[in-house]
Formats: sequence, structure tokens, C-alpha cells
Amino acid sequence: LKMIGRLYTVLCTQNAQLALANQSLEERVAQRTHELETANARLRTLSRTDALLGIANRAYFNERLEQACGLARRQNRPVGLVMIDVDYFKRYNDHCGHQAGDACLQQVAHILAAGVQRAGELVARYGGEEFVLVLPGARLGDAQASAERIRAAVQAAAIAHPDSPLGPCVTVSLGFAADMPRLGEDPEWLLRAADAALYQAKAQGRNCCCASPPTELAA
Ligand code: GH3
Ligand code: MG
Ligand code: MG
Repeated sequence: LKMIGRLYTVLCTQNAQLALANQSLEERVAQRTHELETANARLRTLSRTDALLGIANRAYFNERLEQACGLARRQNRPVGLVMIDVDYFKRYNDHCGHQAGDACLQQVAHILAAGVQRAGELVARYGGEEFVLVLPGARLGDAQASAERIRAAVQAAAIAHPDSPLGPCVTVSLGFAADMPRLGEDPEWLLRAADAALYQAKAQGRNCCCASPPTELAA
């Protein structure tokens, strides 16, 4: 009987130890899962962000434009797009150096990010010294207002540009477009329209905003 009692005690102890080990294993799995989720979220953010400017990158812009067009089509609403290009930026680099050029782009990105007004809007670096702004629900007049606000904000920031033919400060040129996305049409049409308008803004002397198509310019 004593033997059985001892065996019973040993078994109980082992059982308690196993339960403890199991609990600590579960805790470690939970902690590991949490760490992996945090690392995953961080990786996702990094993969969407431009490393130099800290705003959305082109890949994320493509994703969000596609989403915005899909949603707009279902809701029968327009989408607006603004393309923004820093004027005479090569001269800035040549005159002030590439590092100062980087800092200048950071300032411009900061101004653009601060100007995002509504949920769903997105500002991204399109590439080099070019930026894009997605405006879900915006008609041409709304896109025009956003473009003009950005142009004025960059000018008001008075970032010195010692070699700009336009004056002492950094300026931007902007092209904007807006339309109802049509079924089966890929979002590139909006990008092409805004890009064509940006080309017009450059041709018209820079530091200005142009619409695409120009005949539809909102009052
Ligand atoms: P425009 O008014 O017609 O737009 O003239 P621009 O000089 O701004 O245009 P261009 O395309 O000739 O030059 C763009 C310059 O932007 C050239 C390139 O070296 C510079 N650039 C692009 N990306 C970066 C960057 O990340 N950092 C710096 N410092 N410069 C960059
Ligand atoms: Mg450019
Ligand atoms: Mg430029």
C-alpha cells in the first residue's frame, strides 16, 4: 500500500510538472506569435514606404489607385489624381549638392503629407522628384483646388532654390485629372491624363496647375 502511495505521489508530481511545462510552452508560442505579427506589420509598412521620404512609395500608390478606382466604380463616384513635379530640380542638385537635394525633397514630401485632408486620400512618391496625390470622390474642380493648394503651400514654405530661373525659392508644377472609372478600364488612364496635364504645366512656364483635358477646366 505504501508503494502505491509513493507511486501516486510521483505521478502527481510529474503531472504537475507537465502541466507547468505545457503552460510555459503555450505562453512562449503566444509571445512568438505576437512578435511575428509585429514584425510582419512592420515589414508591410516598410514595403509600402519610400525609404528616403517616409511617405508611400510607388508600389503602394498603384495598389491604392486600383482600390480607389474599383470602389469609385461600384459607388458611381469619380476619382481625382494630381501629379506634382519639382521645378528645375536638377539645377538644385547641381548647385546645392545631392544631399541638400535629398533634404529639399524631404521638405516637399512633408508639405504634401501635411496637406492630405480627407480619409482615403493618399500622397506618394511616384519616382525621383515626382509625387502623386489620389483623391477618391474628387471631381475636376476638387482636384484643381487640391493642386492649387499644394502649389501655394510649396511656394509659401519658401525653400531656397539659389539657381531657379523662376525666382529665389523652390516651386512645383502640377497636372490634375478626374473622372468616373469605367468597367474594364485600368487606372492607367487617369495617370496618363494627369501626366499630360503636368507636361502642359511645364510648357506653360512651371509653378502652375493644368487640367486634363484642358477644355474641361473647372470654373
Ligand atoms: P523640370 O522643371 O522640367 O522638372 O526640370 P528638372 O530639373 O526638375 O527635371 P529633370 O528630370 O531634368 O531632373 C530631375 C532631377 O532630380 C535629376 C535627378 O538627379 C534628381 N533626383 C531624382 N531623385 C532624386 C533624389 O532622390 N535625390 C536627389 N538629391 N535628387 C534626385
Ligand atoms: Mg521630373
Ligand atoms: Mg522636375
